[in-house]
Amino acid sequence: MSSLDKALEYYVANPWLCWGVVPFVAINIGQWTPILTLDWAINKSWAAPYLIEYGGASRKPRLELLEKVREKISLSRQYKEALWNSFGPSAIINAILGIWFLPFLMGKPTKPCPTLTEFVVSMVLMEYIDDFALYCFHSLEHYKFWHWHQYHHSFTTPSAVSTIVIGEIDIAIQGFIPILIACMSVRAHPILYAAHGFMRALESAVNHAGLDSPIIRAFLLKTYLPFGTSPAFHDCHHRYSNYGKGAKNLGEQFWIWDWMFGTLATANIGSTAQEKNQAVEAQQVQTAQDTVKAE
Ligand SMILES: [Zn+2]
Ligand SMILES: [Zn+2]
Repeated sequence: MSSLDKALEYYVANPWLCWGVVPFVAINIGQWTPILTLDWAINKSWAAPYLIEYGGASRKPRLELLEKVREKISLSRQYKEALWNSFGPSAIINAILGIWFLPFLMGKPTKPCPTLTEFVVSMVLMEYIDDFALYCFHSLEHYKFWHWHQYHHSFTTPSAVSTIVIGEIDIAIQGFIPILIACMSVRAHPILYAAHGFMRALESAVNHAGLDSPIIRAFLLKTYLPFGTSPAFHDCHHRYSNYGKGAKNLGEQFWIWDWMFGTLATANIGSTAQEKNQAVEAQQVQTAQDTVKAE
C-alpha cells in the first residue's frame, strides 16, 4: 500500500478531519481567495474593462455606485461581519455539529477515495441539485420571508465580500442547506463534500465580485455546463430585484429554473465595459460602412 493510500485511509477513518476540519478549511479557501483577490482588483485600472456595467445614459459607473454602497455599510464593517460569519462561534459550532451528523446523513465512506468518473459525475450533479435547492429557498425568502434576506440586498452594487455579509438564517438557507441537500442526494464521499463546498463558496464570491472575464470564468465549473450563467446574472438580481415578491434571477449558477418558473430577467443583464465598448465600436464601423455605401 502506497503512502498516499495510507494517508487517505487515515483521512476517511477520522471524522474530525474528513467531515470537520478539511471541509471547513476548503470552504474558507474557496470563499476568501476570490474575496481578497477580486476586491483588491476591482479598483485597479487594468480591471476596468472587466467591470460589469449597465446601459443607459443615466447609469453611473460601477465604482461610483460601489462607493455609495460603502458609505452606507463601510468596507471595514463588511469585512468584520464576513470574518465573523466565516470564523465566528456559529461557523465553528456548525463545523463541529457536522462531525457528528454528516456521517449519518452521507453514510460511512466505503473506500478511501472516489474514482475519477464518480468524482466528475457527482460534482456535476451536485452543481445542479444545489442550485435548484437554492432557487427554491431563495424564492421562498423573496416571496414569504423577505425580512430574512433583506439585509443581503442592501448591496445594490455588490463586491466579492458581499457574498458573506448576510444574516445567519440567510446563510443557512442559501448556503449550508443546499450544499447539504446536494451532498445527501449523491451520498457524497468526504472528498466530494469538501470539493463541492469549496466550489460553491468560490462561485458565490465570484458571482458577487462585479467582474467578468474569460480568466474568471475559467475557474467556475458552471461555465462548462449547459444553462450556466455568467457573474452578471446574480449581479443583475442585486441591481434590479431588491424587493420581495416579483424578484427575478433567483437561481445563481443556472438560468434554467428561472426560465421554467417565469422568473428570468431577459432585460437589464449587465455586460462588461469591454463588451460594451466592442458593441459601440461595431456599431460605429457598421454606420461608417453604411455611409460609404450610401455615397
Ligand atoms: Zn435575493
Ligand atoms: Zn447575493
